Amino acid sequence: MVNRAPSDGPAAPAMHTARSVRTVLGDIGPTGLGVCNAHDHLFLRSPQLPGQELADAEAAAAELNAFRAAGGAAVIQWTPYGMGRRAAELPRLARESGVRIVAATGLHQAAHYSPELLARVHGDLAGLFVTELTEGIGGTGPRAGMIKVAGGFHGLDRHARHTMAAAAEAQRATGAAIGVHLELGTGALDVLDLLCGTLAVPPDRVILGHLNRSPDLVVHRTAAEAGAYLAFDGPSRAHHATDWRLPEALAALADAGFGDRILLGGDTTTAAARSVNGGPGMPYLLGRHRERLARTLGKDLVARFLTANPAHAFAADWAPTG
Ligand SMILES: [Zn+2]
Repeated sequence: MVNRAPSDGPAAPAMHTARSVRTVLGDIGPTGLGVCNAHDHLFLRSPQLPGQELADAEAAAAELNAFRAAGGAAVIQWTPYGMGRRAAELPRLARESGVRIVAATGLHQAAHYSPELLARVHGDLAGLFVTELTEGIGGTGPRAGMIKVAGGFHGLDRHARHTMAAAAEAQRATGAAIGVHLELGTGALDVLDLLCGTLAVPPDRVILGHLNRSPDLVVHRTAAEAGAYLAFDGPSRAHHATDWRLPEALAALADAGFGDRILLGGDTTTAAARSVNGGPGMPYLLGRHRERLARTLGKDLVARFLTANPAHAFAADWAPTG
């Protein structure tokens, strides 16, 4: 299933430098990813979203089929540890839909967990993340292909700092990219100071999420200059400054030479938002949203946001294991 270097041949060193994307069906070359929804959820459960759980595997399958029919080829699920990822379901869903799926390890804000769960994992978070990235999720599940962490509103609390330190350690050990939930899109530069400054994570291993929610073009540009990837995810939210500010924000980045840093995602977080339940869901990203962006930025640039950029962002030089 997983491509590994043979133990008896001179090909081994070359294999170690080949970057690959770790999907739930095994590692693939970056160009195999195709049109990629760089931040979304098939399964999600949080006490913050009571009654809106993404827990229905058949609805997830239908959503993937709708995404595939719209031209989609890959979905990165940013659901971290302890939030109902349903990792064991993901290989089957990937196989049946033909959509590549990347799973996440990592930890969200403390508010998404019980105190008991946090107490249980607090002591060796890095070890947990590394195990999920290299051996598999929950013992028998697929391997995670990225690390998800979260900041706070214009700052980082003790939980966020602890989680990010563990993520940096796991990043160093594995090569995986770190995706960051920015609360309402804020705190990007605090996150980069901590992850890339204090903790020495290479900036191109950091993906800042939800930047669309805070259309501060100066912050966007500063983060891009630092070398991080910028994810503009979660379109179609009436209460966020998302879709209508996005062409302007992305054009400013592209004009400044940072078109290669931009990722796009859907970030479906509730059952009601699924297209199969009448919401915009995953297909919206490749429908109205893509059309809207292409009118301003041109088809080729938008295609780059959806293919070449995620291929670079999620491909890792995975440390050899075993
Ligand atoms: Zn998300």
